Amino acid sequence: MNLFLQKAGAKQQKTGFVPTMGALHPGHISLVETAKQRGHLVICSIFVNPTQFNDAKDFQNYPITIESDIDQLEKAGCDVLFLPSVSEMYPNGLASKTHYELGYLETVLEGKYRPGHFQGVCQVVHRLLGIIPADFLYLGQKDFQQCMVIKKMIGLQGLKTTIVICPTLREPDGLAMSSRNMRLDEKARTRAVEISSTLNYIKTSLQPGDLSILKSNAIKKLNDAGFKTDYVEIADAETLALKDHWDGKTKLVALCAAFLGDVRLIDNMLL
Ligand code: AMP
Repeated sequence: MNLFLQKAGAKQQKTGFVPTMGALHPGHISLVETAKQRGHLVICSIFVNPTQFNDAKDFQNYPITIESDIDQLEKAGCDVLFLPSVSEMYPNGLASKTHYELGYLETVLEGKYRPGHFQGVCQVVHRLLGIIPADFLYLGQKDFQQCMVIKKMIGLQGLKTTIVICPTLREPDGLAMSSRNMRLDEKARTRAVEISSTLNYIKTSLQPGDLSILKSNAIKKLNDAGFKTDYVEIADAETLALKDHWDGKTKLVALCAAFLGDVRLIDNMLL
């Protein structure tokens, strides 16, 4: 790794880092391609991080498709693949010595429904940036709250890395690409489109004033389609403050998380 970083440094080439958990799809690859287009030395990591899973079954069932991943990365022109083991990432064990003061961000939405998840995310990204002190960190808007959390962690730790947020890539029917989509059977895959339809419904129906009926209609749409909904929320896109009322001016984002069977899907849309 150091050799690659030194070579890039010698050429004054910037480094772009794309952390992933593998089972790569075109959404991940779009991050690599964006970094590549910007002329960076592109480093991708694949590491299914045990400390960010609050559900042991989700961790055990997480898809692993390493040969296909390598093939896609080679085709996209990725320069370096970092494929660490658990002991390489956590030589002193999984317990973190650092607590990240994420404040409000950790108390809502994914933070509320997945206790400890964002501490695990910060732990792994902090550690990865220790090994790969990249100039730019490429993240997907698909994980909207995660982008905010990582930005906060980078600020708290005083790291020199700049975040680049890339748009969510979707399947032709609108479903946000996700490694977990592989775990949907045919029936669930057909139903899954309802997540993006619901976000579109919010976007097209949004009016200044009370938002509670819009939110409860959206939850009903998901539940009627067979989802078990964790949340559908509308929030301030800058702060993630949850909104029950819209002044017609504040930039908003709609976010949702819902289960189809035992597969949990998340998505969001700027309104
Ligand atoms: P993951 O492997 O799920 O941890 O994702 C690795 C990175 O890819 C994260 O920054 C995600 O936000 C991003 N990503 C995941 N799905 C998509 C997508 N459909 N479009 C764009 N980026 C994505």
